[in-house]
Amino acid sequence: MPYKLFFLLLIAASLLSGCGRVTTNAAATPDEPQSRTSASTTENEPAPAPPVPADPNKKVYLTFDDGPNSHYTGLVLDILKRYNVKATFVVIGSNVEKNPAVLQRILDEGHNLVNHTYSHDYKIIYASPQAFLADLEKCNNAIGKTGHEAKIYRAPGGPSKMEKSYYDYLSRYGYKSLEWNVSSADSDPRGVSPEQIINNVKNGVIQMEKAGRPPIILMHDGTEININVENPGAAVQNYIKSRESDIAALPVIIEFLQARGYTFAGVDANTPSAW
Ligand SMILES: [Zn+2]
Repeated sequence: MPYKLFFLLLIAASLLSGCGRVTTNAAATPDEPQSRTSASTTENEPAPAPPVPADPNKKVYLTFDDGPNSHYTGLVLDILKRYNVKATFVVIGSNVEKNPAVLQRILDEGHNLVNHTYSHDYKIIYASPQAFLADLEKCNNAIGKTGHEAKIYRAPGGPSKMEKSYYDYLSRYGYKSLEWNVSSADSDPRGVSPEQIINNVKNGVIQMEKAGRPPIILMHDGTEININVENPGAAVQNYIKSRESDIAALPVIIEFLQARGYTFAGVDANTPSAW
C-alpha cells in the first residue's frame, strides 16, 4: 500500500498553488476505482516491443516536475527502465537534499536534470530576479554533490509568473528557461484520473504534431508531502490520487508515443524551445 510510506514535509506551496497550467476540469468521483494498467500489474515483465522503429529525428521530451520524491520518482524510474526510454527530472533543491539516493539513481539511469529552484516558494523566488538566481544556484549547490549542475531551469508556476526582466537577468548568468507545450494537467488541485492524464497528453501531442514542434510533456513525480497524518485533507488526498494516476498513465503514454515513432530525448542545451 504505497499510501503508508513516510513522506516528509511541506506541501503547501507547490500543492495549493499548483505547479503548472491546469487545463482540465473534470474530477473523478471519490469512489471510482482507480484504473490500473501494466504499471502495477506487470512490473517485472518486459515492456512490449515498440510497434514501429523509433525515428531519431522525431523527438519527444518527457519531463517530471517537483521531485525527487522518495516514493513516486522510483516508480517513474522503474517504468522508464522497463521501456528503456529517457526522460528529464525537473528537481527542487530541497527535495534533492532529502532524497540524494533518488537523485543519484536518476543520473545513474541516464536521465537529465533541470533546475526547479531550491525552495519552489513563490514568495522567495519572485521577490526579484536576484532572488530567483540565488534560489537556482542554491538548487545547483544541492545537485553539485553528484558532480552535475543544471543550468536549464523551469520556472515554478510556469512562465506566466515570470517577467521579461527575470529571463534577461538569468540568461546573463547562463541560465536557459525550459517551458512545455503539452500539459498532462496533473497538477489540478481536484485530482485527476489516469484517463484524464492520458487524454490530455495524447491531445497535446497531436496538436504539436500539427504545429510541427517536438512535444515537451509536463508531468509531476511530486514534492515530498506529509501524508502520515490522521486525516489527510482533501488537498493531500487529491495530490496522492494524481501521483498514482501519473504512474498508471505513464506506460500508456509511452506506448502511445512509441507507436507514433518517437525517440525519447533528455532535455539539454540543444532542446528546441517549446513555442
Ligand atoms: Zn513545480
